[in-house]
Amino acid sequence: MARVYNFSAGPAVLPEEVLKEAADEMLDYRGCGMSVMEMSHRSKMFSDIIETAEADLRDLLKIPDNYKVLFLQGGASQQFSAVPMNLMKNKAADYIVTGQWAKKACQEAKKYGKVNVIASSEDKTFTYIPDCSDLPVSEDADYVYVCWNNTIYGTKYQQVPDTKGKILVADMSSSILSEPVNVEDFGVIYFGVQKNVGPAGVVVCIIREDLITDDVLPGTPTMLKWKTQADADSLYNTPPCYGIYICGKVFQWLKKQGGLEAMQKRNEEKAKILYDFLDQSEMFRGTVEKKDRSLMNVPFVTGDKDLDAKFVAEAKEAGFENLKGHRTVGGMRASIYNAMPKEGVEKLVEFMKKFEEENK
Ligand SMILES: *Cc1c(COP(=O)(O)O)cnc(C)c1O
Repeated sequence: MARVYNFSAGPAVLPEEVLKEAADEMLDYRGCGMSVMEMSHRSKMFSDIIETAEADLRDLLKIPDNYKVLFLQGGASQQFSAVPMNLMKNKAADYIVTGQWAKKACQEAKKYGKVNVIASSEDKTFTYIPDCSDLPVSEDADYVYVCWNNTIYGTKYQQVPDTKGKILVADMSSSILSEPVNVEDFGVIYFGVQKNVGPAGVVVCIIREDLITDDVLPGTPTMLKWKTQADADSLYNTPPCYGIYICGKVFQWLKKQGGLEAMQKRNEEKAKILYDFLDQSEMFRGTVEKKDRSLMNVPFVTGDKDLDAKFVAEAKEAGFENLKGHRTVGGMRASIYNAMPKEGVEKLVEFMKKFEEENK
């Protein structure tokens, strides 16, 4: 068996220990004679799985008691609709557009009400996070929306925007659990799990209880109403059972690693190895403003398309997979999520040095 170093932006690398444990339990989960894929979502076995997953996530993120945790389907993109449907009481919202995902969410929200883009970094192809210390927040805005870590462009908010009292909603798909977050700064946090947590098919929503109401936009589908899901403890219909089970294992793995402070330290070390190399290289350079760099997604270029392609191809040969940049950006991108070992980043940098040497 040969595992590669997988730098995919998502679905992405998972901890090997978790995959091995899941393999061991594939045919017979803890003596019950069946796989988690095969058991009723109403069984005691599965209740334990989802309840433990929730408790561990609450521990990791220190989620206050007045927030609900929902394990849902539909991916992060479905929340692009659910957010306005559940929150637009005045039919108005403010969006900060820092990349493709924020833009898509913003466009979706326009179907339901008046949407103001109150800050954007599109003028410089999303290579920075705009100053959010004095935003022109709309008086009637039901919420302010951000994409916390921009998976495609490799930027991350370093400070919580001042929303002047408005509810802050954040898509944290690609940075969740990479470092501590003060949940109370947000009304809603949600994340598709396939970046940093588990297999595609689960989106987790962390929602302040007072934002979960029957007062949703007319026509909101039952399934997209957060209250439906909250009242049923994520079991209104069959949830993505197997995905939730793997997420639960990743939460336990994170606790074993020392929790989110430990992960932050490790992620900072890992990212530093790559950024330090990019900053001194004469061939490669990072594409975003230093102050806004993501710890999870690191885009870089050589400045020469052919050389980029040669690099990606040779890297693949050498066991470094999925380094090609997003189709809209080009160049390269190394996603170095929680489960990417430090050794993977060190080896990548060694390979980049060698490539630079050979292609001067
Ligand atoms: C990948 C990603 C999405 C889309 O997730 P889906 O689960 O495919 O809908 C949304 N937001 C961010 C920040 C992402 O990285």
